[in-house]
Amino acid sequence: MFFYSTNNKSLRVSLKEAVLKGLADDGGLFMPERIPQLPPSFFENIHKHSVDEICFSVADTLIGDDLVKENLHWIVSESINFPIPLVKVTDNIFSLELFHGPTLAFKDVGARFMARLLSYFREGENSDITVLVATSGDTGSAVANGFLEVKGIKVVILYPSGKVSEIQEKQLTTLGQNITALEVKGTFDDCQALVKRAFSDKELNKKTTLTSANSINVARLIPQSFYYFIAYSQLQKSKLPVIFCVPSGNFGNLTAGLIAKRMGLPVEKFIAATNVNDVVPEYLASGKFSPRSSRQTISNAMDVGNPSNFARMLDLYQHDLKLMQQDIAGHHFTDEETRRTMKEVYRQHDYLLDPHGAVGFTAIQKYLAHHQATGIFIETAHPAKFIDVVEEVIGEKIEMPARLAVCVSKPKQSVVMENSYGDLQDFLLQQD
Ligand SMILES: *Cc1c(COP(=O)(O)O)cnc(C)c1O
Repeated sequence: MFFYSTNNKSLRVSLKEAVLKGLADDGGLFMPERIPQLPPSFFENIHKHSVDEICFSVADTLIGDDLVKENLHWIVSESINFPIPLVKVTDNIFSLELFHGPTLAFKDVGARFMARLLSYFREGENSDITVLVATSGDTGSAVANGFLEVKGIKVVILYPSGKVSEIQEKQLTTLGQNITALEVKGTFDDCQALVKRAFSDKELNKKTTLTSANSINVARLIPQSFYYFIAYSQLQKSKLPVIFCVPSGNFGNLTAGLIAKRMGLPVEKFIAATNVNDVVPEYLASGKFSPRSSRQTISNAMDVGNPSNFARMLDLYQHDLKLMQQDIAGHHFTDEETRRTMKEVYRQHDYLLDPHGAVGFTAIQKYLAHHQATGIFIETAHPAKFIDVVEEVIGEKIEMPARLAVCVSKPKQSVVMENSYGDLQDFLLQQD
């Protein structure tokens, strides 16, 4: 499979190059040149297949020509080595729980896949590679965990000081070994801007090998399409159309869903659900895209003012708003609405949502008030990751999973940095 840049369709690179580069030279995002369909028989029999078989079929269809089959199979099964259950919450709403991985968030899937794919492509190289990543919360810990102890790879994570939860911070800053956390005095958008600048800095890139692990990397994007198939395989056969609701920030998760649909997955509609950082729902309603600074909310992994995967969404729909509206509806909610949903769903359905999943649930409820469908929302994180908000909202103590408790008990280790590109440059050059 070749990949082109969203800025230039004639710029083509191999999967290996796309994964190592992260971002195209012209600043565009990589997209597969074709999205092959799986045969109808695959969907008819999907209920009979194991998770492993489903994920491998999807991976093989997209990128099977780029790797030795056994290696691809190993990478797929090592990446999805935890359960991804579809849990019934109401008669027609299901939660796809993507938080059973090592850092209790969906980004484990992409990060684990990318770490393994990258080390496959780096085999035989003798210089180290630096994975540079900006995080608004969960990306950093998922990436760090995914790459922990992987030989020949260093990870440098930038996160906004004071703007991630204590637990998220502990998950980023307690791993040590080949992982360094840079605590930046600024916002997530500042961190992302610093990282983007480092990637486009020609001088710096001559001296050190950088790669991205943000959701812009195709190695993160591709495996995220697997779990849409996994969800579908767990549904009882029914005549009702299936819709997916994706709580979104950078829109990597949603974009992966759109790719799954292009591969033939029968999805009637996607709902792009956001908090008040609503540039994409606003675009879907008005045709105007106005990126702006992000605002802080209780679903802080979605506090993104300029979502990077929007370029891919435009590309998938040839910049045609009407086409995009056929597949995607947008909704946004305030923290107050999110809190209300968390409380109601806990009381009425005995299901504990995290603030991100709650945004998704609210959107799906709104949509199903006017449509007959089976709704699946992506529960992107374990509620215990947002323990302060969750306990305050439901007025009860909740239990912290053991692996989280261990990490919280360790001391934080971070390198504090001004929001200054010069400082980042110096830091990266000292790494070698
Ligand atoms: C990253 C993240 C999101 C947003 O996902 P995108 O792919 O950036 O849209 C939602 N919820 C949680 C918990 C996250 O960590």
